[in-house]
Amino acid sequence: MEKKITMDTIVNHCKTRGFVFPGSEIYDGFANTWDFGPIGVELKNNIKRAWWKRFVQEDKNTYGVDAAILMNPHVWEASGHVSSFSDPQMDCKQCKQRFRADNLIEAHSKGTVVPDKMTNEEMEQYIADNKIKCPHCGGFDWTKIRNFNLMFATSRGTIEDASAKVYLRPETCQGEYVNFLNVQRTMRAKVPFAIAQIGKSFRNEITPGNFLFRTVEFEQMELQKFCHEKDSMNIYADYKARALKFIEDLGLAADHLRYHDHDKLAHYAKAACDIQYLFPIGWQELNGIHHRGTWDLSRHQEFSGKNMIYTDPFTNEKFLPNVIEYSIGADRLTLAIMCEAYDEEQLENDTRIVMHLHPALAPYKVAILPLQKNLSEKANEVFATLSKQFMCTYDEAGSIGKRYRRQDEIGTPFCVTIDFDSLEDNTVTIRDRDTMEQIRLPIDQVAEYVEKRIKFN
Ligand code: ATP
Repeated sequence: MEKKITMDTIVNHCKTRGFVFPGSEIYDGFANTWDFGPIGVELKNNIKRAWWKRFVQEDKNTYGVDAAILMNPHVWEASGHVSSFSDPQMDCKQCKQRFRADNLIEAHSKGTVVPDKMTNEEMEQYIADNKIKCPHCGGFDWTKIRNFNLMFATSRGTIEDASAKVYLRPETCQGEYVNFLNVQRTMRAKVPFAIAQIGKSFRNEITPGNFLFRTVEFEQMELQKFCHEKDSMNIYADYKARALKFIEDLGLAADHLRYHDHDKLAHYAKAACDIQYLFPIGWQELNGIHHRGTWDLSRHQEFSGKNMIYTDPFTNEKFLPNVIEYSIGADRLTLAIMCEAYDEEQLENDTRIVMHLHPALAPYKVAILPLQKNLSEKANEVFATLSKQFMCTYDEAGSIGKRYRRQDEIGTPFCVTIDFDSLEDNTVTIRDRDTMEQIRLPIDQVAEYVEKRIKFN
């Protein structure tokens, strides 16, 4: 089912309602960087909280960490990123546009040729033999392929020499692998157990774009489950199911989601699957679940010289654990959730823009709206009480209808209106964002009413 909204609609809505602004905007921006505004930061934090609750808090065998972004450079040698985290880049000499050679071949052959298995020379030959033209200007004048490493390098210390070269991490999971022994020992963890983390990653992508979908700096929410090989395929299947259930529970419609099992696997991988979402730009990866075998721990064992072998306390069996990885981009998921929630609803005499966000994710849970300015004292009291428990906003400017609309546009599930009766009988009106129905409640019952309706289970 095609989604009707466009990415431009979402970008514009985000910018004008305080969700997401272009990065460094007063300096004309900085390509593919975005700043979360006051509304967006609440939404993204709520998404991260929901993920942590589901996969860490509610799972007694999962432990959280928050590892350093800058790691010992040997980590990236062990992981293979220094030698092979690169894309084959080609420039059109006529229009100076930059492309990935593998993408050019894939598009030309309509997926019948698998460039991952070709050397750079073979890819150049294929492009020459098939006269693949520049998709931008139609020219046929390519540079040779250069391997473009996607890691951002910087230097540590005051002297810039090769020994001080460090990298901004291109993925968070290495922080879990290098802490496998620490976590296992301090938490007395028994395999199978997982280490989870939410944090920033950096990739110098050749073709970033599509708003938050592909950026050079993004947050990952991911976990690595360490397990015995005999359990690994069941755990892999379990995370496939749990990953799908999580995003459905957050409000993504089942018919906008699908599994995409990989045919091509990394040499060490035993299975890999993405869950794709129907973004306004089409079906695209939202998260990945990978069976990584013993690759990660064996490489760190080899490069660090530390023994990573686990001894099962019951059977005394000694083995190197397999790893099942589940990884989802917090920004990409925020984008998917905004695309799903955005609605232009046709009313009798009007259209309203409304974000049907799951109440647990809504930036503000309650908007406090005094009907008139001279009711502000009472309204401020209500704000002071409710804001101890929930993110609330206060608005006394404009007609009540306009104020409701403003809250609909940022997805606030409840509007509490204070009127003259509130002064007499301590009751208020609560308006529901989705049904627009209103009920009257005593002020001291509002918190309980809201609490019940914003739960994420
Ligand atoms: P893609 O194929 O889209 O480049 P990937 O397979 O390289 O993604 P992983 O390395 O498995 O992605 O990262 C896990 C998740 O992190 C992805 O599913 C996605 O949600 C998110 N992610 C990866 N790269 C980016 C990026 N450049 N910008 C935003 N999110 C990203």
